Amino acid sequence: MKSGNAPSEWRHLLPRPGPDAHKHARGRLGVVSGGPLNTGAARLSARAGLRIGAGLVKVFCPPDAAPVLAPTLEAVMLASFASPDQLQNLAEPMDAVVIGPAAGLTEGTALNLGALVRTGAALVVDADALTLFRDRSDELFAWLDRDDVLTPHEGEFERLFPGLLEALGREGAAAEASRRAGAVVVLKGSATVVAAPDGRMTVNGGGSPWLATAGSGDVLAGMIGGLVAQHMDSFDAARAAVWMHSEAARRFGPGLIAEDLPDGLPAVLADLL
Ligand code: AMP
Ligand code: MG
Repeated sequence: MKSGNAPSEWRHLLPRPGPDAHKHARGRLGVVSGGPLNTGAARLSARAGLRIGAGLVKVFCPPDAAPVLAPTLEAVMLASFASPDQLQNLAEPMDAVVIGPAAGLTEGTALNLGALVRTGAALVVDADALTLFRDRSDELFAWLDRDDVLTPHEGEFERLFPGLLEALGREGAAAEASRRAGAVVVLKGSATVVAAPDGRMTVNGGGSPWLATAGSGDVLAGMIGGLVAQHMDSFDAARAAVWMHSEAARRFGPGLIAEDLPDGLPAVLADLL
């Protein structure tokens, strides 16, 4: 079931706050931060989640990262956790959680992901939280369900699904990966393929090459998380976010850095809503 990814395919599905909107009802997004030297990615994801309309966004960090994050966050909330169980308690009220950007390739990250799986939150799994499972992807896939979203670039994809790209090409590989993982797969690149386990698939071409810059994937993960937190279907959330991410970059043009993307979203949204 391959479809195009023009806004006409999904713009009517975008969440809009009604007159009685309340911040808790507009979607609660959690973002897991790395340690004190690795907090920027979580900030990028969190800001993107807020800008795309989640009512409340909270960063969860290890205790030693809190003094770094606290002075850098305004509307984004912050809470620290010292164990996977504490992370689970913090994440319990969330509608969606992003884990992976600068999370660290450590067993702690795997345990944190395992704790998040025990909550009701939909998960956006990116970066280190994907690479970590390179030799044990079955363990990750057993945890996932179809509301969860994996956002690998080609390197991360190849580590989780060795040989699949070469055997099936980008579209076939993303579809097969989604079926194996039992989750939505966003295979990022100059053309990004989004595939769902039920066979839905779309390709977003024409992305801006200025997106090839550090942190842009972290912004995309936060955008997807922000839409999923607002109860948009995960496949539609992923494809809408991929398009808006490209569009924000296209409008900004030369010199784009990841920090520019979240603040470009209101103009893109204004033309869609
Ligand atoms: P990451 O590699 O995780 O930082 O993610 C990079 C983001 O930028 C993804 O959304 C890619 O689809 C996008 N991207 C990277 N390179 C290009 C390119 N040459 N043209 C369009 N989009 C790109
Ligand atoms: Mg990345």
